[in-house]
Amino acid sequence: MPENYTIDMPEAVRNIIHTIEEHGFKAYAVGGCIRDSILGRNPDDWDITTSAVPAQIKTFFKRTIDTGIVHGTVTVMVNKTGYEVTTYRIDGEYEDGRHPKSVEFSDRLVDDLCRRDFTINAMAYNDTDGFVDEFNGLDDLDAKIIRCVGEPELRFTEDALRMMRAIRFSAQLGFIIDEDTYSAIGAMADTISKVSMERIHDELGKILMSDHPDYVKRLCDTRLTQYVLPVMDSILTDRRCNSTLTLLMHAGHSPYLRYAALYNATDADNANAELKALKLDNNTINTVTKIVRLSKTSIDETEPAVREAIHMYGRDFLPLLMRHQTSVIAAKEETTGIMMTAARKHVEVINRLYEEIIKRGDCISIKDLDISGSDLMELGMSGPRIGETLNSMLHIVMENPKLNDKETLIAMLGTLE
Ligand code: ATP
Ligand code: MG
Repeated sequence: MPENYTIDMPEAVRNIIHTIEEHGFKAYAVGGCIRDSILGRNPDDWDITTSAVPAQIKTFFKRTIDTGIVHGTVTVMVNKTGYEVTTYRIDGEYEDGRHPKSVEFSDRLVDDLCRRDFTINAMAYNDTDGFVDEFNGLDDLDAKIIRCVGEPELRFTEDALRMMRAIRFSAQLGFIIDEDTYSAIGAMADTISKVSMERIHDELGKILMSDHPDYVKRLCDTRLTQYVLPVMDSILTDRRCNSTLTLLMHAGHSPYLRYAALYNATDADNANAELKALKLDNNTINTVTKIVRLSKTSIDETEPAVREAIHMYGRDFLPLLMRHQTSVIAAKEETTGIMMTAARKHVEVINRLYEEIIKRGDCISIKDLDISGSDLMELGMSGPRIGETLNSMLHIVMENPKLNDKETLIAMLGTLE
């Protein structure tokens, strides 16, 4: 990294820093945005750290939001974007392995940097002073290392979530984890149970969606999964491990597909139980469980069978299932070295039939029928028979779409039982 390296901060960030400096205080862009800029990745958000306290920040800008005044954070609004401006902070004693009991403001940047988790996340920058890199984050970025700021066991004692964050950043960036940091995770693994499942699934989701989803193995090697995710732990510690990691590397870029790959080697009920324990949203739980349950399902290569499958599993679900089955095939091919031509062709045929059915707008649900419940009522039908009749008609029409015509369907009425 050249000495005079500069970071191209967004104009709004430069202006905020400049405004704070004009009032006689210090301000820097800090944390993830600096790390990502140096790596040439687009930062999600730009955090600013400052020597000014929230009450002062609020007087420097027209539009601010009190995001977390007690923690020193004020959001400064520029046009429609918010930038979090946080006072230099020293985190007090941690009471529950997750949250500092109190926070104290400081007027020294280094205090704020040393409360941060990893060296690569503990760098600050502004145009006046350039980089402030007290913990050699630049060197670790170069060497691709995740390393705790300070003593790892102490830092994980303060906040157990950091253990998951270490593995998550290693997966997102393709970094190794420094030996001391890594062994401290192993030593402290049991304390992960203090972390809420919502935070655990946030981090797990980021690992799964990264370019290195197979780094989930590190969660298991450090024994983190042993305490909170028993199903995943058993998959990744027995003979199913390699095929699962290979499958993850072939899985499409969707949380459903990544979770389904992770749990593909267990049965749907086990997968469902762990997804629930992870407190994922119901849609994810149901979709992933369904993929795992239907992972080996084979649909007949006929239009009626594909229409039935779309009706039964859902219009959006079938393509997802096919993507999953394609990944399973690719992973098996990689593991065995044997091409599965027939299986690939089968998925291709189902995909093609699906496309054609959707493009033509074939009838795949009761609302697509050329006859409705009120039509049947007008013909004197009532009660549950209406639904049953429509359902019978749907299956007939899915078998033979030409029959989806009101007169034909009415003519058919007498034959339905
Ligand atoms: P991303 O936004 O991609 O998840 P990030 O590094 O920006 O990565 P955030 O969670 O947004 O991560 O946090 C911003 C910064 O705050 C981090 O870079 C780090 O300096 C600090 N930080 C966040 N969480 C912790 C934590 N649990 N312990 C210590 N420092 C933390
Ligand atoms: Mg961030």
